[in-house]
Amino acid sequence: MPMTALDIFKLLPKKNCGECGVPTCLAFAMMLANKQAELTKCPYVSPDVVEQLESSASPPMRTVKVGNIEIGGETELFRHEKKFFNQTAYALIIEDDVDDQRIVERAKKLDAMKYERIGIVSGVDLIGVKAKGDAQRFSDAVTLVNDNSGLPLVLMSEDPEVVESGLKVVSKSKPLIYAGSTNNCASMAKLAKEYACPLALYADDIDELVSLSEVAKSEGIEDIVLDLNLGAKPLRQTLEWLTILRRLSVKKLFRPLGFPVMINLDNGADVETQAIRAAIGTLKYTSLIIFKDLDPARLYPLTTLRTNIYTDPQALIQVNPGLYEIGKPNRNSPVIVTSNFSLTYFTVASDIEASKVPAHLLVVDTEGLSVMTAFAADKFTPEKIAETLTEYKVADKVDHRKLIIPGMIAMLKMKLEELTGWEVIVGVKDSSALPKYLKELSNG
Ligand code: SF4
Repeated sequence: MPMTALDIFKLLPKKNCGECGVPTCLAFAMMLANKQAELTKCPYVSPDVVEQLESSASPPMRTVKVGNIEIGGETELFRHEKKFFNQTAYALIIEDDVDDQRIVERAKKLDAMKYERIGIVSGVDLIGVKAKGDAQRFSDAVTLVNDNSGLPLVLMSEDPEVVESGLKVVSKSKPLIYAGSTNNCASMAKLAKEYACPLALYADDIDELVSLSEVAKSEGIEDIVLDLNLGAKPLRQTLEWLTILRRLSVKKLFRPLGFPVMINLDNGADVETQAIRAAIGTLKYTSLIIFKDLDPARLYPLTTLRTNIYTDPQALIQVNPGLYEIGKPNRNSPVIVTSNFSLTYFTVASDIEASKVPAHLLVVDTEGLSVMTAFAADKFTPEKIAETLTEYKVADKVDHRKLIIPGMIAMLKMKLEELTGWEVIVGVKDSSALPKYLKELSNG
């Protein structure tokens, strides 16, 4: 648990000299506890106390960067308590025992495995290059993958010499070394230190994992990812251990396990349960999941699940207000008004596309609320719509002066006409009726 002001006060010099900028040590302790002051302001704290206070102030779980992907850094057991910070990253494996052409094709394919949903692009995040042969072959495979994909890499081998051959190629882009185990932890930690790359630690039981973490830390490694072989354990045990590991890091502040947790589904998980394991891992506390392979049809629901879990529950997903062109509208195309709640925007935009009638979509800043919620909260008002119409110079884009508003806010019509001078047409109540409505409108 974080230290209270009283805990901190007990460690301060109690000179009450005021040199830290506040009159007493207790006042300074209170400021430290509230993270409103820096410990360096007191010139009299001993190095021991500095170390004690700094370690208590460090986050419960370290954020680890692999290439440009951040994992871990979580502080909560439950999303609703605050939010989860770094979404589960998905890695797919390329083995080095296939010919070069297949490696290149697969690297390009994984790089392109991306989906867009409500404006969020999601897909495969990393590629695991797995050694099946010697150091030279591994180095060649890493080079091919690196040259044909922009994704960060996981270098997978138990042999430090093989891993080093890959590190010599890609260490600048900070791949994850997978993995240090009881057989090789010190050597892998030395490589991680020399090449300044994150290190995954693999163990089959918790005590072993704690020892490995301590060995790696004693070698000066800070960026650690934990693998408790949960890809191969029974599902119930997997869920239990994921929960225990998260509790130990964020609630008990148990430092040897204060790192992101990963699951390697290449470690014996049968294909049938792979998607279930990945879903459990995404829901419960897994920062990185490695798949031997994954059908795009299974990746899509997983990325959707991930988006749902890792969005901030207190921040609505929204699009920027503005005038959007759907299709290729001209000066006679209809102007349709909607809110900037992301789901509303993408639903309306796709229904307009389905109608095959190009239109201008005027998106009003409703602070991310949907049409009816924004109306009820007084954030979708005639004044706001009129301001948006002016701000985005809609009158310069069309020759007509007709504005279609959602049927649910028909009561705004008169006031809006008064404010804008435009003819306000009450449209459909439900976006799904838009295709038919727009087709009839364009046919006169
Ligand atoms: Fe206490 Fe240090 Fe502040 Fe002096 S400078 S009042 S000793 S905390």
